[in-house]
Order: sequence, then structure tokens, then C-alpha cells
Amino acid sequence: MMERILQSPAKYIQEAGLISSMDEYVQRLGSAPFFIGTASGIARIEEKLGMGRGSSEMAFRFGILSGECSKGNISKLLEAAEKAGCDVIVGIGGGKVIDTAKAVSYYSGKPLIIAPTAASNDAPCSALSVLYDDNGVFDEYLFMRSNPDMVLVDTELIAKAPVRLTVAGMGDALATYYEARAVRRAGKNNQLHAKPTMAGYVIARACHEVLMADGIRAKEDIEAGRITDAVENVIEANIYMSGVGFESGGLAAAHGIQKGMTLIPELHEALHGEIVACCLVCQLIMEGAPREELAEVTSFCRKVGLPVRLSDFGLTGYDDELIEAVARKACAPGATTFNMPFDLGWRDVRDAILMANSEEFLTETMG
Ligand SMILES: [Zn+2]
Repeated sequence: MMERILQSPAKYIQEAGLISSMDEYVQRLGSAPFFIGTASGIARIEEKLGMGRGSSEMAFRFGILSGECSKGNISKLLEAAEKAGCDVIVGIGGGKVIDTAKAVSYYSGKPLIIAPTAASNDAPCSALSVLYDDNGVFDEYLFMRSNPDMVLVDTELIAKAPVRLTVAGMGDALATYYEARAVRRAGKNNQLHAKPTMAGYVIARACHEVLMADGIRAKEDIEAGRITDAVENVIEANIYMSGVGFESGGLAAAHGIQKGMTLIPELHEALHGEIVACCLVCQLIMEGAPREELAEVTSFCRKVGLPVRLSDFGLTGYDDELIEAVARKACAPGATTFNMPFDLGWRDVRDAILMANSEEFLTETMG
């Protein structure tokens, strides 16, 4: 199979303050939007919605998500959207809200607008939704027919969110390049079960370029309340380049090991991208990456405040059994960990985790 596929949102729009023109954007797809968000999320942005350039008398309906992106919550919101006669689904919020809105759009067949309120992960642009049960345990993946019709990124809204979220998004985006590179070297498939296109790979690679050029400055600018080009570039890398880059470029060991790391109780409060950063270091060790490359990644992570080893999460000790369980889960059948350009097993993953957390490695990368 030599089929190459690239998939992306039909339209991606990024601007500080764009949320105030929501009605204008909705009009391009329909006339009766159904907004999905959390109660606190909606309260925070409700006033800003549709107060700007648009002049319509559009009625905004809201559906509140409380709890998980679960089948129960999805069907409740689906029913509400249909009862209200809505013709566009708008997901405005973080990861759970985005995944729920995607599912409601999928089951209703209505067009979808995604407006992320943080740049912490690469969910907004993809055609994938992660469903959980009502207790927060992974249920299944839902694959959409297509990516969102429109992704609206209000950089002002995102810059006002805690900076830790954008930093976590940098961890996710940084891994995107190295994972796409591994997939390409291995001749493996992307997340669309096809070979990556050149464009998919180049977009993934651009995540690295943008973060190296602007990552540290973007963090400082956000902390100082400035929305600069560096901030705009990093938000685009976190949301668009990383989203399209992982889906069309492919995932490898970093995300595979991240799944295993969810077994560590101390990491349950950590953000996805923070764990991914730590796992990226393990991937690079397994690859036998050159010293300069490892040093570039670890020094970037330290400068922006991303964890590179388990002790950075406050983990003081761990036993061999736990690390073995993490490594085994990272190597579950079908795991993206196997998308590396060499054969590997759980022992290789375990060794890489132990190496990444050793004193020897610490002095080597600091030196
Ligand atoms: Zn990710």
C-alpha cells in the first residue's frame, strides 16, 4: 500500500479577539448555532460572543457539558441541539468540550466549528474524538468523516489562559516533529492508516522550527501580557501544525510511551503535553539520537518549564515493577511505539525510561 493521505480542517482562522465576530463566522455555515462548553467556560466568553463586526440577529443556543466526553453526555447534547433546530455545532473550550462537540457534529451530520480556549494540545484540528465512560476511563476512539469545517483560534483568549497550558502544548508540538520523522524513516503509516504526504511531514517539521525560534520568547511574552508574533507563531504550531502534523505525519514512541505513563498515579494531574515531552526524551534515547539533539530538546524543555524526567513531576522514587508495567503498556498491540525505524520490545522502552532518569544522563545533557 503506497497511498499517501493528508487531512486538515477546511478552514483555520487565527486572530486576537476574533471570538467577538462569532456570528459572522457562523453565518458562513448556517444560521442557528448550538454552542457546547462547560458552565464556567461559557460564562467566561458569553459576553464577548458575536458583539463585533457581525450585524445579525442570530440566536445563540448553549448546551452545557458537565463531566466527561461520554456517550451519555453526547446523546443528551445531541438531543438538545436537534430539539432547538440548530444547524451548526460550535465547540468552545478545552479538550473534553472539543471532543464532545466533534461527536455531536458527527452524529447529527451538522457542520462543526471548533474554538479552542487553550493551546495545550493538538485536538482542535484533528478528525478524532476520544470517548470516556462517566468515570473518566477510556472507552473508545471515534473517527469522524472529516476534520472540523472551521477552527477559530482567538489568541487573546488563549494568551489569557494559564501559561502552563501553552507550555504543555509546546511539549506536544515538539514531539510531533520527532515522531513524524521516525514514521517517515520507518516507512510506517500515519494516523490515517496511509503513508504521510510530503506536506504532512513538512508541517510536522515546522513545529520544531517555530518552537526553537519563538518558544521561549512566546512564553515570556504571554507572561508579560503581550500578544506578539512569537505568541501567534507558537499558538499556530501548538494547534494547527501539531494537529495536522500528528494526524497526517504520524505518531511514534513518544505518544506510545505516554499511554504507558498514565499508569503512574503521580502523573494524573500532569498535562498531556508535559508527559509527552518527558516521553520524547525516551524516544530519542531509543533512537540513539546524537548528543547535540538530545541537549537541544532537554535544554529547550528546561527553559520553557517542561518536564524531562520523572522527578520533574515530583516523583521521588519508583519501583521496577511500575516501570515494567509502563513499558509493557507502551508496547500494547497496535501501539504507535512500534512506528520506529527498528524492531523494539518493552525491555527497550524500560531501558530508555531508566536511562532518561539516570544521573548519568542528567550530567551528560547538562554538560
Ligand atoms: Zn498529543
